[in-house]
Parts: sequence; C-alpha cells; structure tokens
Amino acid sequence: MAYKAEYIWIDGTEPTARLRSKTKIMADGADLPIWGFDGSSTNQAPGDKSDCVLRPVFSCPDPLRGGPHKLVMCDVLYTDMTPHVTNMRAKLVPIAEKFAGQESLFGIEQEYNFFQDGRPFGFPAGGYPAPQGFYYCGIGADEVFGREIVEAHMDACLEAGLGLSGINAEVMPGQWEFQVGPLGPLEVSDQLWLARWLLYRIAEDFGIAVTITAKPVSGDWNGAGAHTNFSTNAMREGYDPIITACEALGKKISEHIEGYGDGIEHRLTGEHETAPFSEYSYGVSDRGASVRIPWQVEKDQKGYIEDRRPNANMDPYVVTRLIVDTCCSALA
Ligand code: ADP
Ligand code: MN
Ligand code: MN
Ligand code: MN
Repeated sequence: MAYKAEYIWIDGTEPTARLRSKTKIMADGADLPIWGFDGSSTNQAPGDKSDCVLRPVFSCPDPLRGGPHKLVMCDVLYTDMTPHVTNMRAKLVPIAEKFAGQESLFGIEQEYNFFQDGRPFGFPAGGYPAPQGFYYCGIGADEVFGREIVEAHMDACLEAGLGLSGINAEVMPGQWEFQVGPLGPLEVSDQLWLARWLLYRIAEDFGIAVTITAKPVSGDWNGAGAHTNFSTNAMREGYDPIITACEALGKKISEHIEGYGDGIEHRLTGEHETAPFSEYSYGVSDRGASVRIPWQVEKDQKGYIEDRRPNANMDPYVVTRLIVDTCCSALA
C-alpha cells in the first residue's frame, strides 16, 4: 500500500523559527528521498530563487495516521546541497562529532502553554484565575486544563518511538511540560522538534493552540523554560567533572544566553524560580541558580547538571551545541 510521509522542517521566521510540514505520497516500501519547497513562503528564499531542499534526517512511524505512514524530520539545504543559513542542525553535527568520545547525554524539559480564544486555556474570560500555587502537578477540574491533549500527545510520542521520559502539569493554568531524553545531542534535538510538531498537531484537533513563548503572560505568572539536563561519561562517573562543567558554563555567559531563546531577559528576571540572565551561579538543589546540581548527584558524587536558563522557545540544535562545545572543551 502507498504510504504518507509527513515532511517536517524548521522555517526562517525571526526571531523564533516555526515548524512547517507537508505530505508526500510514497510508493509501497519506497525509501524517503530529498524533496523541495517554496522558501519564499517561509522566509528562507527570495521569490526569484525560491527552491529549497528538504533532506530527511530522522523518521519514525506516524502515530496519528497509523499503518505504514511516517513522520520525517528534515533539515533545509540550498539547491547545491549545502546547508541553508537557517539550518542549525548542520552547525551541531561537527561539534557532536568532535566530542563524540565524551558521550554527551541530554534530557530536555519542554514547558509550554495552551491558549484558546486568545487567552491562556483555563483563564476565565476577561479576568484572572486564582493565583499560582495549586496548578503544578495538580489534580481536579478547577486546577487542570488540557489533560486530554497531554495524554494523547504522550501516547503519540511513545507510539512514534520517541524517547519521552515524562510529563507534568506546570505552575500556571494550562501550562505543561514534557521531557525528552536522556539522548545524544542530535537525537534529543531531532526528537524534541518532532515531539513539538506532534503537540501542535494534536492540540489542533481540540481547537487549542500551543505556544512555547518564554513569557506568555506578564506579571506574577511563571515563564516557560526548557531546562536542559546534561552529562558526559566523565560526569556520570565522578564529581570533579560536574564542577568543571559548571565552572566552564560560567565563563561563557553571554554567548549561552544569546543562544537560549528570544525574550530570555523577560523570563530570567530573578523571580519565579529563575536566576537573573546577566548573572551566573550554580548550586546544589538551588532552583534560583542558573545551573542546578540535583541533590542526588551531590550525594552520589556523580551524575548530571541542569542548565535552567534555556527558554521554552529555544532551538535544541543551538543549545546542545553550545553546551557540548563549552563543557566538553573544558573536560577534554
Ligand atoms: P526537574 O526535577 O528539574 O523537574 P525532570 O524530571 O523534569 O526534572 O527532568 C529531568 C531530566 O533529566 C529528564 O529528562 C531526564 O531524562 C534527564 N536526565 C536524567 N539523567 C540524566 C543524565 N545522566 N544526563 C542527562 N540528562 C539526564
Ligand atoms: Mn521538570
Ligand atoms: Mn518545569
Ligand atoms: Mn527542571
């Protein structure tokens, strides 16, 4: 039977790129070829030179269409087969290869918000709900908004074979999180983008929009982050490398902040479980630090660190590249 391949890619929208996708009908059993699209409609090419190339980099079963159908994560090339300027994956590949011997692993906590009728899902029309306090990991119809979507998304990710490690309700109404990993830098990034696509697509059927904007509601409401947990083989075996990694991150503060997502200064204010974006700190169990060493890691004297700074709207190809480059250089 012919099958449907959903080709998914990252566009050129600034300052935060968006996902695009379209369907290719494939002959029974046929391999996934490169394909093309109109880059002038995605901020990736001028109208008179509009052709861009889609190159499959990761594919999995399509849990929504079922059967032989596939989801196909792609990166974007020019017609001469060189990476497009918006192709951040191509910039990660050489760094991932250079430090492959250190066996980096990432677990990314993707936070996001549901919106309906232009307001956060769970917010009453023309007003505000009860303040934060009971929504995080909450239970009950007065505290939980959108669980059906979250459950459908979790099932879809598992059926697709993605390395999901959990979900939880977050601190504002209609705010949730899923975690992908631990996986290598390219794997975690490909799979996070695909998991985002599945989330947008599933929520669409419920008439709900998803946003990964870093500060979706101003005022006394938490922003949305993408805490990035990281380890190398040495960090998984001893504590000195944990400290080395924390110290190394403190030597490249602005380079990291610039790559951690648009609007980060509105989220990393020093309030709402964040450290100010302009300062760097690390500490055991400290959710007010830039980088947290989980208590278990100090106890075991080995494990991983959590960079709490990346925004929900970050590009994982950029964030994992920065962390691998900074930490693995220091650990080499
Ligand atoms: P939090 O307490 O910050 O909410 P979570 O349970 O949401 O923590 O996320 C922790 C993440 O850390 C998970 O994605 C998990 O896969 C990841 N993780 C666990 N061990 C490692 C490791 N050794 N290296 C990298 N990531 C790891
Ligand atoms: Mn978490
Ligand atoms: Mn969280
Ligand atoms: Mn966290």
